[in-house]
Amino acid sequence: MAQYKPGDEVPRSGIYKVIHDRRHTQEHEVTVIKGKRFPPCNHCGNHPRFELVRAAFHINNSEWFKH
Ligand SMILES: [Zn+2]
Repeated sequence: MAQYKPGDEVPRSGIYKVIHDRRHTQEHEVTVIKGKRFPPCNHCGNHPRFELVRAAFHINNSEWFKH
């Protein structure tokens, strides 16, 4: 499973698992949009690692909802 770190470009939109410094907080999931960069954590800085759980097209990129 590929892991991404703060500063890496987001390869695909979808739900990512975030793994923080364990002294900070537990794993949780977030939605991230393709083309942006994974951000640092306000608490544990560049520690978090991101793993794609489930990819999903952003609705603006769906042919049925483009405008
Ligand atoms: Zn953190």
